[in-house]
Amino acid sequence: MRVRPVAFPFAVFFALLLSPPVFAQMSSQPQRAVAITIDDLPAGNANNMSGSEILEMTTKLLTTLREQKVPAVGFVNEQKLYKTGEADERIKALSLWPEQGFELGNHTFAHTSLNRVPLAAWEEEVVRGETVTRLLLAQHKMKLRYLRHPYLDAGPDLQTRREAEAFLTSRGYRVAPVTMDAWDWMYAGVYEDARKRGDAALQKQLTESYLAYTTAIFDYFEKAGRDLFGYEPKQILLLHGNWLEADHIGELIELLRKRGYQFITLDDALGDGAYSTPDEYVGEGTGWFDHWAITRGRPLQNTPVFPEWVIEKSRELHRQNPTPTSTPY
Ligand SMILES: [Zn+2]
Repeated sequence: MRVRPVAFPFAVFFALLLSPPVFAQMSSQPQRAVAITIDDLPAGNANNMSGSEILEMTTKLLTTLREQKVPAVGFVNEQKLYKTGEADERIKALSLWPEQGFELGNHTFAHTSLNRVPLAAWEEEVVRGETVTRLLLAQHKMKLRYLRHPYLDAGPDLQTRREAEAFLTSRGYRVAPVTMDAWDWMYAGVYEDARKRGDAALQKQLTESYLAYTTAIFDYFEKAGRDLFGYEPKQILLLHGNWLEADHIGELIELLRKRGYQFITLDDALGDGAYSTPDEYVGEGTGWFDHWAITRGRPLQNTPVFPEWVIEKSRELHRQNPTPTSTPY
């Protein structure tokens, strides 16, 4: 039988379209990497926790990270170390980080926003926030080299932002950006209250919602990376020191592994070219994809909506107890 010359290539072409070989599917999985950062140490809710509870929470969190071989940098608010009769236990909890090979960074002494105080006052907060952290790091031959902005507030105007950056550089810091953030602190206040009351059903509901919202956040910022840069830059995920993470970070790690993520150091992530691209963002604290997109005059659209019922539960708690149960960001 005689086959026309064009027929064969077309047949092959359509066969390939209909059944893509396995290797093609594998190569379409993007190279993904993420650095984990954990803010508000020794604990987001340290003011309402005992020293021994902070120690227990820290031990649980770090045990999972170590077992899973996931590097992380913890960012400290040293003010939370000073509670009468408890400073030793709180410092001990913090010291577990460098003891177990995890780096610490500065999150200012009292979680002070650069957007809300004069630059000189903010710089003092940075310096005050170094004392214990620097000592603990030195015991393990590490240096204090990262600063995470409280509330992600990087400056109210470009001049302040640049002056703060110059100050930080002069003290040996690099600003630690954030690209993915699922507001775990908002869940954590409600979760910790449910945990204290032994409300397992609500804890489960919150955990499931947190992981679902996190998935939406991952989808969203992976796409933002592809849209802005043509690839997915190495991500930096923002988490906080709390019981929600201590109890469930293993599930979060599993979620990331399933999406093809490698766990890398913050230093490695910052080597990605994305972090050297123009960034002139000023104003209310937000993630770095917003910084880059707004700098280019193309703000991101359709941000995933945070579950309203969790916000409402958090408001209820604050009404009952005027002392905030968690520090945002
Ligand atoms: Zn914070």
